[in-house]
Amino acid sequence: MTGSHPALTAHFPRWTVKGTAHHRTTCACCGHENLEHTVALAPLDLLGDASGPAVHFGPRCAAAVLHRPVAAVALAACHADMRAERKDAWARKIISLYGPMEFGTDQEMEAAWNRSGNASSSSWQAREFVTKFLADARAQLTDTTLRPTRPHSITDFQPFLVVLDTSNLRHHWCGVVPRENTEGFHTSARRDWTGMVSVTVAALDETSAVHVAFGRRGIAQYNAERGWF
Ligand SMILES: [Zn+2]
Repeated sequence: MTGSHPALTAHFPRWTVKGTAHHRTTCACCGHENLEHTVALAPLDLLGDASGPAVHFGPRCAAAVLHRPVAAVALAACHADMRAERKDAWARKIISLYGPMEFGTDQEMEAAWNRSGNASSSSWQAREFVTKFLADARAQLTDTTLRPTRPHSITDFQPFLVVLDTSNLRHHWCGVVPRENTEGFHTSARRDWTGMVSVTVAALDETSAVHVAFGRRGIAQYNAERGWF
């Protein structure tokens, strides 16, 4: 099964399993086509760090190169998939929270950063952190090792209604605002959630929308405390 792919030569004797790729169905090792999925492997350097782009091998070739049973590689890939999904979720949250702030003033940046669960930072630090986090988040969602590019820009945002507890600690409900009969949706939500605070926000997913809703309330409070507009 081990072919003559250059990645199999002695330069990178160790590999790490990056996950399962359903969009890559040809084994880069033996050339086998129309596989159900491939396993993405990244070469490790001598210090054990992933270095260089991943290669996509069929499950049997991946097992052969790792000297492990096919089932053990599948399990490692499954765990790596879950880690990748958590990174995607983090990236969606970062872009939802800070994407709209990217071209904001230093004050807006500071308020957004300090009221989104981060350690307190000055304006210039906040801009630096936001810029770096946004770059990391976009790199994560445009990494096509395991899946095609995922939605990652503010033009991909959807509208959500978030119903918050007045204690500002938890939310009761979050859902997509329909594009049809939007007013009817809000009227019925007001009826269902009498006495609650509801806020309409835009975000990449539901979980991020809740963070944005709390962030927005926190920002208003932060600005009020400092006498900013
Ligand atoms: Zn193969």
